[in-house]
Amino acid sequence: MTDRELRSAIIQACLEMNRNGLNQGTSGNISARLEAGLLITPSGLPYEALQPEDIVFLDMQGRPEGRWKPSSEWRFHRDILHARPEAGAVVHVHSPYATALAILGRGIPAIHYMIAAAGGPTIRCAPYATFGSEALSQYALEALEGRSACLLANHGMIAVGADLAKALWLAGEVETLARQYHACLQVGEPVILSDAEIARVVEKFRSYGPKAQDTAPPTSG
Ligand SMILES: [Zn+2]
Repeated sequence: MTDRELRSAIIQACLEMNRNGLNQGTSGNISARLEAGLLITPSGLPYEALQPEDIVFLDMQGRPEGRWKPSSEWRFHRDILHARPEAGAVVHVHSPYATALAILGRGIPAIHYMIAAAGGPTIRCAPYATFGSEALSQYALEALEGRSACLLANHGMIAVGADLAKALWLAGEVETLARQYHACLQVGEPVILSDAEIARVVEKFRSYGPKAQDTAPPTSG
């Protein structure tokens, strides 16, 4: 993808996450790796009005280029892309169910095999820290250890992917898991799958074959 195509893809992803209810207003933000830095949504501009040139380029030191300020959460986007060379994109949203669990300080256990899409048997909830802070970024990196998604206490969630489509898809899966877990908690104690079973599913997802890297991720069900 060229610089401009990637900027347009970020805008499309923003519009999509608002359409599908993952996000509302401009509370969420998206970044994608570009050369020796990243492209990230600007702070506070409505997605509907975004033009490719409004997307902000940041180098890995966090220095912005362009006329707008980067998202206030630029720090964890930069830190995740810096720490995870395999990651190409980061999606952050305050989606209702994931955020509700994060407000309860609960991560998501292995209530469904699809949790393997996030890399392991749990989706952790990072401790609370003020938005945009270095502490929040540190907590997020720790919660993401060996995983590609985490919740942020009293805040929202982060999903990481090899590219924009995969990160956005994973954010949707995390929200679905959060919704299922929330529904279970209304009734009783959910049955949790074993670590061994989730390890098996992680492996199965991986072995969809070399094509899996270039095609859409598996759908639930
Ligand atoms: Zn946020």
